[in-house]
Amino acid sequence: MYENYWQQMGERTTVVIPGWQSMSYFSDVKNPCWFLEPEFAKQVVRLHNVVGNAVTDGRQIVVGTGSSQLFLAALYALAPKDGSEPMSVVSAAPYYSSYPSMTDCLKSGLYKWAGDARSFNKEVPYIELVTSPNNPDGFVRHSMVNRTGGILVHDLAYYWPQYTPISSPADHDLTLFTVSKATGHAGTRIGWALVKDLEVAKKMIKFIELNTIGVSRDSQLRAAKILEVMTNTSENLGSFDSHESFFKISYHLMAERWQLLRVAVNRSRAFSLPDFTPGFCHFLNQDSQPQPAFAWLKCEDDHVEDCESFLRGYKILTRGGRHFGVGPKYVRISMLDRDNNFDLFVKRLSTIQS
Ligand code: PMP
Repeated sequence: MYENYWQQMGERTTVVIPGWQSMSYFSDVKNPCWFLEPEFAKQVVRLHNVVGNAVTDGRQIVVGTGSSQLFLAALYALAPKDGSEPMSVVSAAPYYSSYPSMTDCLKSGLYKWAGDARSFNKEVPYIELVTSPNNPDGFVRHSMVNRTGGILVHDLAYYWPQYTPISSPADHDLTLFTVSKATGHAGTRIGWALVKDLEVAKKMIKFIELNTIGVSRDSQLRAAKILEVMTNTSENLGSFDSHESFFKISYHLMAERWQLLRVAVNRSRAFSLPDFTPGFCHFLNQDSQPQPAFAWLKCEDDHVEDCESFLRGYKILTRGGRHFGVGPKYVRISMLDRDNNFDLFVKRLSTIQS
């Protein structure tokens, strides 16, 4: 979806890296995160300051090969090394479908997936993943385990103005972001963590050292350039060239898409979508609508048990609710595909009658 925008930016985002540059493993030996490119760190701070979606003061920035690597680094850093059993990892259903599989893929002795945070009632230490806005359903979230004492990891992949009102700068202990959903550059594989406790950050850095001996410097330089241009276009929203603002343009594109989808869903009456309440966005300086990167669609027809296979029959590919810890009446559909695919999806959906 964001391809058109970046095409229009043209040469402004081109990065040239000569063969002799960025050859060493090391980016900045004075930084605890020695593989963090200073230019990338600088652009991360600038971007958060302009958007107002996260506090960066007093935080260690840890760069990762996508926020996926940082998610595993966080589990490694936060789980005690001498626990009598693996630490429980929970998230409220519906949760991002990769959390359970990534948590359990190596059958670690340090941590294990323990399911839905809402029903977690064991009197043991735990890590809770708080995804806000949430993947798959788009709602703003807070911790859901019904007691204190858990360690929270905030996955804010979608806390950007095109998806949700920016209500205040996030100020958590450990927060994950990714360029994948902020700018659309998923293939660059760059994410970052903002970490309050330096000792936790150092363990995450150690994990990345053991895992991949750092993070592609080329990718960090490319990501830095993308973030720089994105921030430049959004710095003075009142100014005459704010029509180039990545976030403003993307906000309007998402608004159009959600409107088209809601019209199609209302027409077909076979489905329903979540309802969201608008909130004041301090970045856009106006009330703004939540318009998530995914549509969390429910099949309302009593005769349809499995919404995923039902929609496959109409050549609409989705991911079924079971992957997200709920029933098969729900499916998740990406709202970020190219225009042609999105239009085709809406057209096909609107032909389905209850
Ligand atoms: N967290 C959430 C909530 C996501 O939706 C995604 C991407 N689908 C990720 C993390 C992974 O992002 P990355 O591409 O940075 O690994």
